[in-house]
Amino acid sequence: MSDAVSRLAEVRSAIAAATADAKRPEGSVTLVAVSKTFPIEAIEPVLAAGQRVFGENYVQDAKGKWPELRQRYPDAEVHMIGPLQSNKAKEAVALFDVIETLDRPSLAKELQKEIQKAGGTRRPRFLVQVNTGAEPQKGGVLPEEADAFIRACRETYGLDVEGVMCIPPADEPPAPHFALLTTIARRNGLKTVSMGMSADYPTAIAMGATHVRVGSAIFGARG
Ligand SMILES: *Cc1c(COP(=O)(O)O)cnc(C)c1O
Repeated sequence: MSDAVSRLAEVRSAIAAATADAKRPEGSVTLVAVSKTFPIEAIEPVLAAGQRVFGENYVQDAKGKWPELRQRYPDAEVHMIGPLQSNKAKEAVALFDVIETLDRPSLAKELQKEIQKAGGTRRPRFLVQVNTGAEPQKGGVLPEEADAFIRACRETYGLDVEGVMCIPPADEPPAPHFALLTTIARRNGLKTVSMGMSADYPTAIAMGATHVRVGSAIFGARG
């Protein structure tokens, strides 16, 4: 068994334990295995072990791996979790099933255009990224702008927004950020809350995450 496959099993049990501790239904948390920078050979055993949902940060990196992997695993679901430039909207619509980093009107507009051009062949789902810590270097809409932006994505740009995601500041306890994101999801009637990474996914599950994005705890340290 590859190291990644045994670590995958550990992460799965930790998710199940955190879900039970939070008195939430079994299976209510989806693991997004973050495979950014790892090659096909590292990802394939994790697919073979039954994992189907993956996260990638870079369009080029994903483009070099997923068309091939999808031929072998057509039911794989790939999420874009990194910052997305508007000029990559076309490739992103072609490659990803879920784009978690929708965070500005100019990007929403480009995505709408590319979805229309694809003529109904590609209908990615979207999460709005919220910059819960209002960090200047980080993507995401400010918490106080989230409701209006979510509405605009749906009504003005016709995008299928199903949830929200956040990356809390690295140097702060994440729990208040997780709580804020869950509140924003609830008041907008959104079902998906993507939060929690290798260091803090059990906390995120306690605070309502429906999706946790776990990379290094499965694949090991990135080079
Ligand atoms: C890299 C990354 C992750 C995974 O981080 P780990 O600490 O390796 O689990 C999760 N979410 C986002 C947005 C990332 O960029």
